[in-house]
Amino acid sequence: MVSSQEEERARVSRELHDHICQLLVSIKYQFELVGHKLAHPGDTPVTAIDKEIAALSKAIGEVRRISHDLRPALLDDLGLSSALEHIGNELAQRSGMQVHVTPRVHEERLPDTKALLEWMKGNGIEAPRGLASSLLAPGSDKPGKALHRDAIVLREAIYTILTARIRSEQPSARALSDFNQFLSQSMRGLALDARAGGLAWKLSAAASHDSLLKPILMSAAELMVGTRADRVKQCQDDRGCGWLFVDDSRAQNRRWCSMGDCGNVAKARRHYERTRG
Ligand SMILES: [Zn+2]
Repeated sequence: MVSSQEEERARVSRELHDHICQLLVSIKYQFELVGHKLAHPGDTPVTAIDKEIAALSKAIGEVRRISHDLRPALLDDLGLSSALEHIGNELAQRSGMQVHVTPRVHEERLPDTKALLEWMKGNGIEAPRGLASSLLAPGSDKPGKALHRDAIVLREAIYTILTARIRSEQPSARALSDFNQFLSQSMRGLALDARAGGLAWKLSAAASHDSLLKPILMSAAELMVGTRADRVKQCQDDRGCGWLFVDDSRAQNRRWCSMGDCGNVAKARRHYERTRG
């Protein structure tokens, strides 16, 4: 363990020395040259500092690359909460102390408007090109931010209402009123489109960002009051995943949000505990 830590330190310091330090030294030299030219205007004139800027960008890229390498593989394999739990278990075994790790980490999977639009596209709701580019335009990002904020409010309202239903409880008044607020908004520009024997949502250029969220709203409402309402369940993962899913298994005995996520994490965790624990 210690020797592999030493090896890792040596590798990182070599990477820092060979890549970053050399780049920074060359940038410093180029700026000294610019300074010299500024102090002696008679000599060669100062031209653009594009070269220095390019070198700085390269240095930033290198730092990113090296810091990415520093992320433990465990983190990518298991996700943050499991990685923390694993470190806790290792500490407990090395030290003989009792260590309890209760991770409550929920990473935001829709961190911005771009991620939101990509997720929606993957779920059959594609913003017309004009609307998408105005939502993503740099500088004029107000409508994009509003859409993102609304989408998160809607998601949280849906989650609160559905989890309350799973527990046969009353949803909070706040979640209900948020949801109903979305219901009252316009559907302008939203239409059903028939193509290649199937049906899909289609948004015209007249669509507002309210209309973009409508298909999500309707699917959620269908899950709340429709025939599949009893099939909405919560992932039984004990690390606090909390995801909801529709159990369409014939036996109605599905436990995980997805085998590719919590199911696999449970498997990977058992694997790590066997091989390293
Ligand atoms: Zn899960």
